[in-house]
Amino acid sequence: MSHVFHRSLQQTYPVAVSGEGVYVIDNQGKRYIDACGGAAVSCLGYDYAPLKTAINAQIDKLPFVHSSFFTTDILEQAAEALVNDTNGVMSHVYFVSGGSEAIEAAIKMARQYFVDTGKPSKRYFIARKQSYHGNTLGALSLGGNEARKAPYKDILIGANHISACYEYREKQPDESAEAYGLRAANELEAEILRLGAENVAAFVAETVVGATAGCLPPAPTYFKRIREICDQYDVLLILDEVMCGMGRTGTLHAYTQDGITPDIQAVAKGIAAGYQPLGAVFMKAFIVDAIRQGAGFFQHGHTYICHATAVAAGLATQRIIKSENLLDNVVKQGDYLSQRLHEQLADKPYVGEIRGRGLFKGIELVADKASKTPHDASLPIASRIRAVAMDNGLMCYPIAGTIDGVNGNHVLLAPAYIIQAHEIDEIVDKLEKTITTVMDGIA
Ligand code: PLP
Repeated sequence: MSHVFHRSLQQTYPVAVSGEGVYVIDNQGKRYIDACGGAAVSCLGYDYAPLKTAINAQIDKLPFVHSSFFTTDILEQAAEALVNDTNGVMSHVYFVSGGSEAIEAAIKMARQYFVDTGKPSKRYFIARKQSYHGNTLGALSLGGNEARKAPYKDILIGANHISACYEYREKQPDESAEAYGLRAANELEAEILRLGAENVAAFVAETVVGATAGCLPPAPTYFKRIREICDQYDVLLILDEVMCGMGRTGTLHAYTQDGITPDIQAVAKGIAAGYQPLGAVFMKAFIVDAIRQGAGFFQHGHTYICHATAVAAGLATQRIIKSENLLDNVVKQGDYLSQRLHEQLADKPYVGEIRGRGLFKGIELVADKASKTPHDASLPIASRIRAVAMDNGLMCYPIAGTIDGVNGNHVLLAPAYIIQAHEIDEIVDKLEKTITTVMDGIA
């Protein structure tokens, strides 16, 4: 009997023993092609030798030193490299151990910014209904995934939610994408006015939504209008790029494709390719200056912030992505993945939409294509897809999300940045086989 407290107490898991490129191999020798990077984490595959060497070199030198006593060369180098890559947008970076911690730190940083600048009434956060920001209590409160929140509802902090920018479901047939983007963004203004601008600290959004809506890029005008509204009402813009950032969408930061910059940005997952647990919070200079002149100290921290080995993995990952021009491959193979998904899946009666950016794709599954009606919430579609995919030697990320309370099923794909065309062919073949088996089973 396993003494590991696995999240699912009903499931048994194969035992992974090794990795080879984009494949995970279990103790029976079975190979699984990873089409989702685990959860959009594994961007260099599972046996990238130069990355392992960089991590081992840091362990040999100095694996860990507590950040309240020292800084380290590796920490300074990683921060400098990451900040330089923002082309002057960000001035500092705070290293944590994962996405939820990054969001938690971002929430507190926004709040402390207003306390330190003499505006303590600014304490409310606005987020969106289709969103996931992590599982710690603050991050969970911001998220819109009702199922994940349900058991903890009574102990969450208050957060206010507006609609996500969801063209497939919310754009009117006679409305342009541009007009819809503005309309969706204007919900933020209405919510700020409802709460009182003097009470609102920040708006938090995933630049491209991941785990609740199977990859949802914003309409073209959306974030420009969001930025204007935030500036007008002195509300900080926090972008959660934990899943969509660090190259996943074809640019290092997803927000550059929307022509805006956030005040605070959370990243994790791909930053260290999963070889070490690492997250980071970027911030603009005015935030740092305010905290420096205010408390002079960020009232938030964890034992493993600025962890030398994790940061070494992050720096090495970013250097590899650059030196191997992997963002070019993300764009090229992302286009190929779109093409192959459209060729093989778009005509299926249960495929509502295929969307995404770079190597970040979502497939929305529907019960009725014409009316876009989601499947009945009681059907275990997501869990069946996961199980059948694993039988077929495929790792994909099925999502049973919620669309204003109605169930909606999606499959998220986020393969490694090193993926090649023949591996994409294998993914799409196995995915078609998997989804067809599951859908035939429920028909
Ligand atoms: N934010 C987003 C957008 C995520 O997708 C996730 C995880 O899936 C998180 C935050 C939380 O990250 P972590 O699981 O590393 O705590």
